[in-house]
Amino acid sequence: MEPWTYSPARENAALANLQPSYRPFVDGRFVDGDGEPLKTVNPATEEVLAEVGTASTSDVDRAVAAARRAFETTWGPMPGAERAKYLFRIARIVAERSRELAVLETLDNGKPIRESRDVDVPTAAAHLFHHAGWADKLGHAGYGPGVGGNGPPPLGVVGAVIPWNFPLLMAVWKIAPALAAGNTIVLKPAETTPLTALVLAQIAAEAGLPAGVLNVLPGAGDIGSALVGHDGLDKVAFTGSTDVGKEIQRRLAGTGRRLTLELGGKAANIVYDDAALDQAVEGVVDGIFFNQGHVCCAGSRLLVQESIAEEFGELLHARVTTLRVGDPLDKNTDVGAINSRAQLDRIVDLAAAGDSEGAQRWTSPCPLPEKGLFFPPTVFSGVEQTMRVAREEIFGPVLSVLTFRTPDEAVAKANNTPYGLSAGVWTDKGSKAMWTAQRLRAGVVWTNTFNKFDPTSPFGGYAESGFGREGGRIGLGAYLDA
Ligand code: NAP
Ligand code: MG
Repeated sequence: MEPWTYSPARENAALANLQPSYRPFVDGRFVDGDGEPLKTVNPATEEVLAEVGTASTSDVDRAVAAARRAFETTWGPMPGAERAKYLFRIARIVAERSRELAVLETLDNGKPIRESRDVDVPTAAAHLFHHAGWADKLGHAGYGPGVGGNGPPPLGVVGAVIPWNFPLLMAVWKIAPALAAGNTIVLKPAETTPLTALVLAQIAAEAGLPAGVLNVLPGAGDIGSALVGHDGLDKVAFTGSTDVGKEIQRRLAGTGRRLTLELGGKAANIVYDDAALDQAVEGVVDGIFFNQGHVCCAGSRLLVQESIAEEFGELLHARVTTLRVGDPLDKNTDVGAINSRAQLDRIVDLAAAGDSEGAQRWTSPCPLPEKGLFFPPTVFSGVEQTMRVAREEIFGPVLSVLTFRTPDEAVAKANNTPYGLSAGVWTDKGSKAMWTAQRLRAGVVWTNTFNKFDPTSPFGGYAESGFGREGGRIGLGAYLDA
């Protein structure tokens, strides 16, 4: 008998309202950038979605000048309650156009529609609403009353560069606090995923946001580099790889410009022998296979107590086997496409390093689509702390499993990483969860859950995961002259 399978349930791609071409957004208008146009592709098919005009270094100059003008003439002097109205309007339009944004994000990025629809876009809207609420309450954010009780002044012009893993959400994580605090911003989205940031610019224009307050410059790393090094900025906010983050930090040293860095991670997910195992399996699966593992806070190192390692491994393999890999637009898909050929090559290389260093590879027997960029859910067991699959961020659907015997050993192994962005703890004992969380050097520690995001809660890292926090009252501080 044929095993029971899901019928395809494909979301309508036409909802994305895809245009043949897109352009940079500077000083309130879409303009012809002077850079070489790029073609953005759908990683699930490798077909071209649209041509995107890119910025040149002179466009960076123009955008920074427009942002400065807006800061000095309209946005900076505007009362917080007025700024809030624009942000609420943008938040409402994002919510109203959520289906369009979700489908567009899935096409450009390759992530499952279920995730763009249920996580990326609603979380982006929530972040906008949250920060809209702060705009007239900055005097109560804990940074002092400031002049007239309006809180500390904004910094000025922000340059922001973001990666491709959560294109809309990362754009909003920069734009919402920057604008709520009274700054203006120039944003460079990632080369492979520029589309939702450009639709967000169009939404801002529709909301009547004054010209120059938000500028979006598609382009490659050279434009990111020209932007973050621009001497017309007051602050740089960067999310991406640790190597680029370090380079930016070196360049900004001594300039007096503010900097926040949200970089990579290699999070430990610790499962004690007293944990509810089925629940822990769900959390471990979500921790590493959500968004194809293209998540800086992914739980990419499973630390499981030795006494339950075998049982847990069996439960884990059985659960991962049920994940459906394939068409990101299908509402039944659990794991979508890898965002780019370069990222797929990197995942393949690091997994090969796991083999050659002696870890045991288990690959989900799931069928893969014939075309497009896909990698099957993969679990390495017998991983040692020195192996590359235990130390380097793979940024793909690959889990490394290590074991421990005592809580001290779990903590020591979890902290044995150059990173420190997030961690997970699974146990039936509240005291043990607290004991462990207090000893983990990670910006976020989830207990008996994973990957929970809320605009009220600060997110950020230690060590090579960067510095500064995004979200909540603490995140606002990075955009105020406090
Ligand atoms: P990346 O190379 O650091 O890119 C992040 C952003 O910076 C992109 O917009 C990129 O432009 C731009 N950029 C590249 N070189 C730059 C430079 N010299 N100066 C200023 N901006 C520059 O990271 P990625 O290529 O997206 O991913 C590589 C690795 O970064 C991943 O494997 C993962 O380890 C890490 N990562 C971490 C996060 C996180 O949230 N913490 C997110 C994504 C990636 P282009 O898009 O044109 O290259
Ligand atoms: Mg793309």
